[in-house]
Amino acid sequence: MEHLRIPGPTPCPEEILQAMTKQMINHRGEEFGQILNEVTAKLKILFQTKGDVVILTGSGTGGLEAVIVNSLSPGDKVLSVSVGVFGERFAAIAEQFGAEVIPLCFEWGKAADADAVRQALQAEPKIKAVLVTHNETSTGVTNDLASISSVVKEFDKLLLVDAISSMSSINLPVDDWHCDVTVTGSQKGWMVPPGLVMVSLSQEGWQAQAKAKMPRFYWDFAKAKSYLEKGQTPWTPAISTIFGLSVSLEMMLREGLANIIARHARVGQAARDGVKSLGLSLFAEEGYASNTVTAIAAPDGLDTKKMLRILREEHRVVLSGGQQRLADKIFRIGHLGWVNEGDIEAVISALKVVLPQAGFRSAR
Ligand SMILES: *Cc1c(COP(=O)(O)O)cnc(C)c1O
Repeated sequence: MEHLRIPGPTPCPEEILQAMTKQMINHRGEEFGQILNEVTAKLKILFQTKGDVVILTGSGTGGLEAVIVNSLSPGDKVLSVSVGVFGERFAAIAEQFGAEVIPLCFEWGKAADADAVRQALQAEPKIKAVLVTHNETSTGVTNDLASISSVVKEFDKLLLVDAISSMSSINLPVDDWHCDVTVTGSQKGWMVPPGLVMVSLSQEGWQAQAKAKMPRFYWDFAKAKSYLEKGQTPWTPAISTIFGLSVSLEMMLREGLANIIARHARVGQAARDGVKSLGLSLFAEEGYASNTVTAIAAPDGLDTKKMLRILREEHRVVLSGGQQRLADKIFRIGHLGWVNEGDIEAVISALKVVLPQAGFRSAR
């Protein structure tokens, strides 16, 4: 088997893939309704919420668009707290739909600073909502969402969270941290193929939803909720992916959320220790390195493209390069979902062989 160590899609256990080979069922029938209700109840446990969770069919970016168009109206001022590619994407969607985006950008590799968020909110009282990426997959940084959230709530603003690559892997108690609308995607920490986005909404999230005027049809949380009450989705869902998610949630609840979070912390630590032992440096600011994706600064002399190719062709280890302006500047190891320390060891041993072949001369 290939060692697919990218930050999504992630490998899926055999039981989950098997569940997805089942014959189609009527998505307006009783059997599907039961599965949808069970899956939704289990998702709430992993989101650590008593609020609503809705399941939509689409990729993570579709989920980000859904969050924007269900929460905002054209002309609304929003503060975009951005530390990388996905933060910029969230802001770009808001802007595309007519929000007035006030950017608060931090250097890539650094975490967002809660005090800077406070200053930005003080400077512009008309801001309605704050956009935050919990775990910035492009830079391997996990923001201190608890602190950012407490600032956002000092000002009583709506908090919209991209938790696509953190939810279920890194602690994110949605209710305790007052996240109003929070989105994740099936192909990240959930051990399921792409196809589903899962979104939680607080009371305030629903109040905003009822007033939001941005154009929407397919992405409508209110429709999703009213159909969920009948055990249905408004449109044909990715039924097979829901079959997979149903098995994955059973596995996750058997392991327990606290254990899953602890496993990701161990795996993240193993990845960081491993790359440092090879003489490499992390791209993420100390103390904010993510437990689901490790970004490594490409050292002088290293040809990252060549390294990724040799890893893939000769070791069947698949890692990610950097995105946009980080291309050739970093490479990334994804370690979320179905992953343990042994998987990281395999990556580190392969890197040890390949780094010198791709031009890296360690100082050690
Ligand atoms: C993967 C990811 C996305 C985009 O998801 P797609 O499924 O590729 O559309 C958005 N935000 C974050 C933080 C991600 O990790």
